[in-house]
Amino acid sequence: MNGDPAKTANGDATTREWEAPLAPAEIRPVPHIQARFPPGPRSAWTEVSEGQWNDWHWQQRERITGLDQLEKVIRVTDEERRACVETGDQFHMGITPYYAALMDPEDPHCPVRLQSVPTMGELFASPADLEDPLAEDRDMPVPGITHRYPDRVLFYTTHNCPVYCRHCTRKRKVADPTSAAARKQVEDGLDYITLHREIRDVVISGGDPLSLSDDRLDYILGRLRAIPHVEIFRLGTRNVVTLPQRITDDLCRMLRKHQPVYVNTHFNHPKECTAEAFEAARKLADAGCVIGNQMVLLKGVNDDPKTVLELNHKLLMMRVRPYYIYQCDLAKGISHFRTPIETGRKIIRALRGHTSGLAVPYFVVDAPEGGGKIPVNPDYVVRHEGKKWVLRNYAGKEFTYYEP
Ligand SMILES: *Cc1c(COP(=O)(O)O)cnc(C)c1O
Ligand code: SF4
Repeated sequence: MNGDPAKTANGDATTREWEAPLAPAEIRPVPHIQARFPPGPRSAWTEVSEGQWNDWHWQQRERITGLDQLEKVIRVTDEERRACVETGDQFHMGITPYYAALMDPEDPHCPVRLQSVPTMGELFASPADLEDPLAEDRDMPVPGITHRYPDRVLFYTTHNCPVYCRHCTRKRKVADPTSAAARKQVEDGLDYITLHREIRDVVISGGDPLSLSDDRLDYILGRLRAIPHVEIFRLGTRNVVTLPQRITDDLCRMLRKHQPVYVNTHFNHPKECTAEAFEAARKLADAGCVIGNQMVLLKGVNDDPKTVLELNHKLLMMRVRPYYIYQCDLAKGISHFRTPIETGRKIIRALRGHTSGLAVPYFVVDAPEGGGKIPVNPDYVVRHEGKKWVLRNYAGKEFTYYEP
């Protein structure tokens, strides 16, 4: 298997084939569309050079991981201060300067802040909380693979992420260096996929797979591409949102050679739709990736129709298709984010028919005990008797359809 194109037969490093220049056909969005995506602010980093700011290695190195750094960016409340200390050994804090600069320094209810700065709610254990809310470990035939559906698997490749989301469902593993996917584990996962010919779709997840180097990712994708029964894979990554600088031309050239590649990202609020995020999505889309968004419904962040409508309109301009809205699951320490299921149904009702169907995702509950994703969209069938179907349209009017 040709996993390492950087080496010639005798092992010399040469130019990688994906480092060839991109075709000059650059797809530039029209200016008035781009103008709706202002660059993210610089906040405490006004002195930093353009080159450093746009360098993802710098962003990664300068991540906020402690209270003293955080105090320089926002006015930390007493509650946040306590939470930073008390949650420290359960779930690390990690925020890239780019994402931190999106936070409102004065408002503790800022949606970006709620997603990245610890709060005391995390220490509250609700009776409904589960250690492994989606039974991902139970459905693990080998470490690092969750095989729940007949034709596709989740494949964990790393446990690092540029920003540790406070609502993360994999809190128990993400950011824990002792559970990081070792090389051996990735090899075992690849072997499992090779042996199971029913697997045609691989969801590459983590953590965030873009925390891996281009070469490492190229190796994994190359191995997957060499398996004849694997038709597509998806990269589950939040880098587009939290570290858009990671989407470099090099990365995109590498992805191009493994097409078809699907990218599923995780925007939760229109505030995250900056010029930087727009550019990251543009590069991925121009490289042929089909991008979807998986939003998590979070109390105080996006639990109202207006916010979701604005987010989804922005995503469509970024060539990102809203794919799922997830009901917040039962992971430990995220009960303060949970909304009633009815909140999500209300949001879908406010979207369907009122705006482009493209802006209407599926609302799903990822059921506990490994039940998988179950759609809980509102129902438009009022009743049906024999061949008579009574349906309700988006405006609440009823219509009857008779089957031939
Ligand atoms: C979400 C998920 C998938 C992918 O599900 P789709 O509905 O196809 O997006 C696959 N495996 C597991 C274990 C999952 O949780
Ligand atoms: S990027 Fe995803 S895996 Fe990483 S902390 Fe956020 S939600 Fe969890």
